[in-house]
Order: sequence, then structure tokens, then C-alpha cells
Amino acid sequence: MEMKKALVTGGAGFVGSHLCERLLNDGKEVICLDNFFTGSKKNVIHLLNNPYFELVRHDVTMPFFIEVDEIYNLACPASPIHYQYNPIKTIKTSVMGAINMLGLAKRINAKILQASTSEVYGDPIVHPQKEDYWGNVNPWGPRSCYDEGKRSAETLFMDYNIQNKVDIKVIRIFNTYGPRMHPNDGRVVSNFIIQAIKGDDITIYGDGAQTRSFQYVDDLVEGMIRMMNTGKDFTGPVNIGNPNEFTIKQLAETVIKLTNSKSKIIYLSPTKDDPTRRNPDISLAKEKLNGWEPKIQLIEGLNYTIDYFKTTLKI
Ligand code: NAD
Ligand code: UDP
Repeated sequence: MEMKKALVTGGAGFVGSHLCERLLNDGKEVICLDNFFTGSKKNVIHLLNNPYFELVRHDVTMPFFIEVDEIYNLACPASPIHYQYNPIKTIKTSVMGAINMLGLAKRINAKILQASTSEVYGDPIVHPQKEDYWGNVNPWGPRSCYDEGKRSAETLFMDYNIQNKVDIKVIRIFNTYGPRMHPNDGRVVSNFIIQAIKGDDITIYGDGAQTRSFQYVDDLVEGMIRMMNTGKDFTGPVNIGNPNEFTIKQLAETVIKLTNSKSKIIYLSPTKDDPTRRNPDISLAKEKLNGWEPKIQLIEGLNYTIDYFKTTLKI
């Protein structure tokens, strides 16, 4: 039987590189497309001598033509620092990237999965968040380029499904962490771990009472694969995240403990429009994705990530 081919946009990023690895291990041929804005060749360097892996430098805002069986659309900067660096480019990447990849999927009759986000719920008023909650998003703020870009992309996916019968899969990813996170992208898990290892102050924005639910990257990748393998009748959107909720202060204290660090916690000004609570309801994922649920809890996942940063940063 011929090998199935998968295109992964944003494949040289944090999540994308783990997904490429998993798809190769599952016996697929993988084409990894990336413009290296926040991703890096280093993230996939260990895959480059695999004959079933191809790395293409390309920007998803431009059309791209290839024959594949499935497309995972991950291309988009994901951390607030990076997506706010060039907000126009961020929204173009989400919207034009979605149009280009959906057009490709339609033309070649491929299945296509969109990496959407819990940010579509904005600063949610409903807890935990279920997929039928419409969210509380500011269209006029520093996070809008990302939140509204991802919301528009979801709409495009839905409309290509209804109008053109494209086989779509939309997942809403909640905060995910693990090895190969960009050390300078300012996300909370990487920031705290690096600060703790170096003995620098741990920077909490606001009072640290805001919550997040942290998912280890392997659990996300498992959810992505299971979602891609669902039947045509299930499009999502479906939440993929770990429902164990922690305050940012608890995260800081846990990281300090696990690294035996002498770092002190300092409190800085809160960032604008920072969601106060975030927690996924994952009952739909459990039901539709053969009982999928996160397997790696915070302490275990943090320990893997701490080991990674200790090794790569040599501190
Ligand atoms: P990342 O920044 O490490 O990966 C994004 C990748 O996309 C990078 O390799 C980057 O170079 C590439 N990229 C950006 N713009 C591009 C463009 N115009 N053309 C081609 N490539 C481009 O971030 P990540 O955490 O791996 O996120 C991957 C996807 O998952 C993103 O779509 C993100 O929105 C989504 N997501 C991630 C999280 C999370 O917590 N990590 C949460 C919700 C959603
Ligand atoms: N945060 C923090 N200190 C940091 C980085 C982030 O207190 O050094 C907080 C941030 O204000 C937010 C939470 O941690 O409340 C998660 O931030 P991140 O940028 O990782 O992701 P997102 O806000 O997109 O969920």
C-alpha cells in the first residue's frame, strides 16, 4: 500500500515539530512547511536525514500546491509577544493561510485540521469552557489580531465544509507546553523555568490569581492524530486541553520547587485583556476521540521541560 502523505504547516515550530515526529513514527510521509518566523530548522534537524521527511521554506499567506492526503494547519505565531510583534502579519497568516490551505484541500480532496485556540473564548465568563460557548473577545485590543484571526479561520473552515464539502477538523488548543518551546517567546511555562534555572526573579504579571490549564505536548499530539482519524461527520470544533486548572502563582511556586531554585517571585503590572480564568471542558473530546484524555500531569510534564531547558541552555 502506498504511504499516506501529510502536510504540516508551521511544522518547524514547537507543536509542529512534535507532530511531524509522531506522523513519521506512524509510517506517514511528512512535508513540513514553515517560514521560520518563530520556528527553527533546529526543531526538526533530527528528522532531516529521514527520507520520508521534507522541509520546505514557504509562507502560508502565499498559495502552495502539493498532493497530500491530509493537511495539519498550524502556521501562526502563538505567543503574545510574537503575535503582537507584527499584528497585521498575524491576522494575514491566520486568514490567508486558512484560505490557501482550504483551497488546496478542496482541490486535492484532502482532509484538513485547523489548530484553533482557546483564545476564541477570549476572557471567558463561562467556566469551564464548552465548545458551544461563543466567548467574550475584544475585537479592538492587543490580542485581537490573534483571537479574531483564529475566529475568522474557524468560520472559513466551517463555510468550506458546508459550501464545498471539504473534510475539516477544528481543534481548540488550550495552553500547551513542553520541550522545544521557544526560549524567548515569553510564554509563562518557558519564562518561569528559565528564570528559575538561572536564579532570576520569577515575573508574575498582575497578582498571579489568573488561572490556566496546562497541557503537555504529547497529549495534544495524540488528540490531533485521533481528531484527524474521525469520520467525515465529525468536524469539531473540539477542545483539546488538560482540565486541571492552576493559578499562575501556583505554577511559579511549583517551578521553583522542582528546580530547587533560589529565585524570588516579583509582581509586575498585569497585561491588557489577560484572560482571568481558562479551563477546558473536554467531554466532547472524550466522547468523539475514543476516550482521549491527557495522560501527563503538570509535575511530570514540567520535569521533562526543565530537563530540556537545562540541556539546551547549558545552565
Ligand atoms: P510556534 O510559534 O512554535 O509555531 C508556529 C509555527 O508557524 C512556527 O514554526 C512559525 O515559524 C510558523 N509560521 C508562522 N507564520 C507563518 C507563515 N506565515 N507561514 C509559514 N509558517 C509560519 O507555536 P506553537 O505553540 O507550536 O503553535 C502551533 C499552532 O498551535 C499555532 O497555530 C497556534 O496558534 C496553535 N496553538 C498553540 C497553543 C499553545 O499553547 N502552544 C495554544 C493554542 C493554539
Ligand atoms: N504570565 C506571567 N509571567 C510571565 C509570562 C506570563 O505572569 O512571565 C502570565 C500571563 O499574564 C497569563 C499567563 O501567565 O496570565 C499565561 O500567559 P502565556 O503568555 O503563557 O499564554 P496566554 O496568555 O496566551 O494563555
